[in-house]
Formats: sequence, C-alpha cells, structure tokens
Amino acid sequence: MAEREKNIGPGTRAVWSGEEGLGWQGATQVPVVHSVTFGFDDLDEWMEVGAGRAPGHIYSRNTNPTVEVFEEKMRQLEGAEAATSFATGMAAVSNTLFALLEPGRRVVSIRDTYGGTSRIFLEFLPRYGVEVELCPTEDHETLEAAVEQGCDLLYLETPTNPTMKILDIERLARAGHARGAVVVVDNTFASPINQSPLEMGADLVLHSATKFLGGHSDAMGGVVCGREDLVREIFRFREINGATLAAPVAYFLIRSLKTLELRVLRQNENAAGLARFLTGHPAVERVYFPGLEDDPGHEIADRQMRGFGGLVSFSLRGGMDEVRSFLGGLRYAHRAASLGSVGTLIGPPAVTSHVELTPEARAELGIPETLIRCSVGIENLEDLIEDFRRALD
Ligand SMILES: *Cc1c(COP(=O)(O)O)cnc(C)c1O
Repeated sequence: MAEREKNIGPGTRAVWSGEEGLGWQGATQVPVVHSVTFGFDDLDEWMEVGAGRAPGHIYSRNTNPTVEVFEEKMRQLEGAEAATSFATGMAAVSNTLFALLEPGRRVVSIRDTYGGTSRIFLEFLPRYGVEVELCPTEDHETLEAAVEQGCDLLYLETPTNPTMKILDIERLARAGHARGAVVVVDNTFASPINQSPLEMGADLVLHSATKFLGGHSDAMGGVVCGREDLVREIFRFREINGATLAAPVAYFLIRSLKTLELRVLRQNENAAGLARFLTGHPAVERVYFPGLEDDPGHEIADRQMRGFGGLVSFSLRGGMDEVRSFLGGLRYAHRAASLGSVGTLIGPPAVTSHVELTPEARAELGIPETLIRCSVGIENLEDLIEDFRRALD
C-alpha cells in the first residue's frame, strides 16, 4: 500500500477512498453508471484500453466505473494490493476456488465453513479432480498435519458459523506458506473493521458483501482482496463466467461502506452486552461469543481481532417448544436467515443454515438442536436486552 494510504483510519477510508475525480457536473456523490458499453472515437485509444494497456472501460461485464469505486474502497479497507468484486458472496468463493485450482490439486479447510462453501468442497471440487480435506475446526495440530501432507490452497474462515469458533490465522498462514499454499480467509463474520487477515499473512481475503458490508439486507455482492497476481487470475475467470456485480448494487454497497465503521462498532458493543446478559439468564444453557473470557476461542480472538463482532449464538434449555416460544416472543428481531444488518436477525441453524443436516450431523459439528444464532443490529442495547428478557421469561 502507498505510504499515504497507511496512516488513514478505516472510517475516513470508507468515506473518501476511490472517489477522486469522479464528479460529473459537480456531483459530490459517485455516479451510477448504468451504461453497459463505453464508446471510443479514437481507434488507437480503444485498442490500448481493450488490451488492458491503458485505463478505461469497454463493457460492464468486465469493468464499470461505479463498480470500480466499491472495489477501491474494499482494497483500501483490507490493506490489499488489488480487489475484484462479484454478484454474490458465493460467486466470490467459487470464482476464487475455480480460478486457482485444477485437477490434481489439494485443498485443506475446516468442517465449519459457510454452508455453500462446504457444498463446493464436498460436491463440486471433487467432481473436477481436486482433493479436499476438511479438518475439525479448532484443532490446529490436525490442520497443520493435513497441510504438511501437501496443500495448494488453505481455506480458512474465522469466526465460524454458527458456533463462533476461532482459528489462529497467523499460525495457519505460516504452515500453509511453508508448504507453498495460497492462503484464503473468508472475513465475512468479522468485517475489515474487526480483523485484517492480510496483515496476519493471508494471501487473499474474501467477503459476502451481502452481510456487514451492505449492512441493510437489501443488496447482494461479494469481493476478493489481496495479492495482485492472484486477484488478476480470479478477475480473468470472473469476467468470462459473468458473475459480475451490477453498478446500481455497487452504489448501494458504496453508500453502505460509508457507515461501516459506525455500524460495526455499535454491533460489537451490542453483541458483547447481549452475550453478557444471556450468560446470566437461567433459561440459557450456553453462550457462544469469542468476547467472553471463558470462550474457547477468546485468547486467539483477543490477539487477532480489534472487536469480537456482532454475532452471538446461544442454546436454550429444553427443546424446540422453548425455541418456538422464545422466537415468537421477540419484538425487535427479524426471524430470518442472513446476518450483518442494522436490524437484529435471529434464527436457529437447525432450520436455517444447517437445515439439510441430520440432528446427528449437527451434533458432530457441535450444534445443539436448541442453538439460536443472533446477528445483533444497531438498536439501543437496553431495548434489545429488555426484549430478550421478556421473551426468555
Ligand atoms: C453469506 C455468506 C457467504 C455467501 O454469501 P452470499 O452473498 O449469500 O452468496 C459466504 N461466506 C459467509 C461466511 C457467509 O456468511
């Protein structure tokens, strides 16, 4: 990163970066360029841009001025050499894997990756002759041993869904690099405000922009940031398979990024307050939140994260009847999948993210049937606690 960029805080970066020289007729905000195609009167200039030797745009499946602003903001927020964007988070995940892997390659990852990612590992990559080994998530020794047996791509996610397990990024990136692997981290749960995997040695960091980056449950997108040579390979694949972020959606994401730091700091605070309240409530069996001092991942999280994030999971004493009556009693929460929105979102993984698994398979992942995952919004903490207290009582 240029020296000038290094000393700027994330709040300032999110507001200003990528916006230089974009004003159209004096507009202070980024124009939404709906144009699919870009015209050239000068054939030589057209050829230079088309060949990638001069800056400019040809066709919006490849690049677009509005989309580029979103990518530049994310590049700076992650402190990366380069960034490229996608229509969804899963497009970011699948394009990264399919662009960088080929038959005979070997991937090491964890059992607790996001459901869609796990499907790619178990169903699609093996179909193309890629070997995948998924290790027990918090078992760093087993992960290191699996990497030692050969690893072209080490894929990590921390904190994980839905039990907030924590991986030591620096330690595992070191193991991956010793074996020549590309190290990828899904940073969706932490957001760039709370965690910077590239500073800890990762080569690529990716996000579902649908979650904290968008922050309002009204836009889908994805982004990959990191080493320039790798990002260029992934972009080359994406511009052909067409999983492109649309300009109007890129504008939503640009606007959302401007409040990212404010939202995430508030969500960190609310989640910590709610976790503390839940820990003391007799109807709650266990709370899963890396900010709690007795949480198994606390020590690593405390070292590698600036904040513990806006997600809290907890299991209720009793069974599905208790879950049903608790969820029905909440006023200030959408009972829905997804996360990272300004409004609190809540749901049991047994009926949302992990619905396709049997109760036994869920138990093997350490997911109790009465587990509830809560993505805490930016409401006032006292109101959330009061709402939860009423529903739990
Ligand atoms: C939601 C999510 C994804 C997939 O993102 P989409 O935008 O839904 O495609 C990937 N990784 C994590 C950790 C997620 O939470």
